[in-house]
Amino acid sequence: MTEIIRIDPINPETGRLARAAEVIKDGGTVAFPTETVYGLGANGFDANACSRIFEIKGRPADNPLILHIAAASWLNRVANGVDRRTLDLVEKVWPGPITLVLKRNNDVPDIVTAGLKTAAIRCPAHRIALGLIEQSGVPIAAPSANLSTKPSTTKFEHVLQDLDGKVDVIIDGGDATFGVESTIIDMTVNPPTLLRPGAFTVEEIERYLGMIKVPKTINQSLKSDDVAIAPGMKYRHYAPDKKLVLANDDTLLHAAAELAVGLKDPIAILCSKQKANALMNGVKLRNISLIVLGSDDNLYEVARNLFDGFRALDATGAKLGIIQKFDEKGIGLAIMNRVYKAAGGSSVGTFSELKELLN
Ligand code: AMP
Ligand code: MG
Repeated sequence: MTEIIRIDPINPETGRLARAAEVIKDGGTVAFPTETVYGLGANGFDANACSRIFEIKGRPADNPLILHIAAASWLNRVANGVDRRTLDLVEKVWPGPITLVLKRNNDVPDIVTAGLKTAAIRCPAHRIALGLIEQSGVPIAAPSANLSTKPSTTKFEHVLQDLDGKVDVIIDGGDATFGVESTIIDMTVNPPTLLRPGAFTVEEIERYLGMIKVPKTINQSLKSDDVAIAPGMKYRHYAPDKKLVLANDDTLLHAAAELAVGLKDPIAILCSKQKANALMNGVKLRNISLIVLGSDDNLYEVARNLFDGFRALDATGAKLGIIQKFDEKGIGLAIMNRVYKAAGGSSVGTFSELKELLN
């Protein structure tokens, strides 16, 4: 049985948070909202409780979790030898959607870090998440609150879809603010290195840290025998059940809309409102589900709607979804990272490739 606890994200009710915190303290599992996506949390010092997270999600054991702490002052409960540069950084960016990989200490069980000597740590900027960690009194280990390989959950309804009946508690705390996961930076190397683009933009991080290393492979889809820059990243990720294909050129969206008329099964197009308007300009779309993700001029809006768009694709009768490219600047880098992984490297660049795909 899963207990649903509804909590106000602006003014979280203390008693309700306390109930959820009890469950964490007792070794249970709680899905909770953060400013990035929903997390599936357990006591980060309790190996048994954390093993439930892997079972529930069907998550491979070599994919480590993130430790969520209530304040930078908790860092020495989980990390070792935290240097001045890191302390200066967290003073400016926490609470916030930025996760730091640091040397871990021996109180952190192996299962949390998949046996690594480093741990990924962050302090979330969300009153429910912070209140839950504070009241639990322990770091909360949490990956995203979705079944493994599925799109991350950004709304309470998504969490219900994936985890109802599997977790002890789901907190209904409204929609996540950013809609994409935290940015992960490896602070154990010089220069600090981006492991996963996320809600906190590289441009902004560099204002605090100076130049960081952004590996060229960060937005390339990896084959199973490639070595991932961060553990877990080689897996299929964020993926809808239906096939998702990236259109490398916007004109292919128009071509797809025209070709759809003659197809047996409908297709879906995931795009900005500007592209959707252009597609509908003067013609009646047939055999198409349009999934509008937001504005090309406001990629934060697109980020917020992206995983919901992937889930919406699965709810349509479409055979597959075609998604437009977004500018890889600012939060666009994180958006395209999720799109590449969700599409599993499948894309079309020419009209003939598109025709072949739809046949
Ligand atoms: P999720 O919150 O579901 O996106 O999962 C957390 C992600 O954090 C994992 O997939 C890893 O890629 C990353 N991560 C966690 N711990 C470490 C670590 N010690 N070193 C590098 N990356 C990590
Ligand atoms: Mg995840």
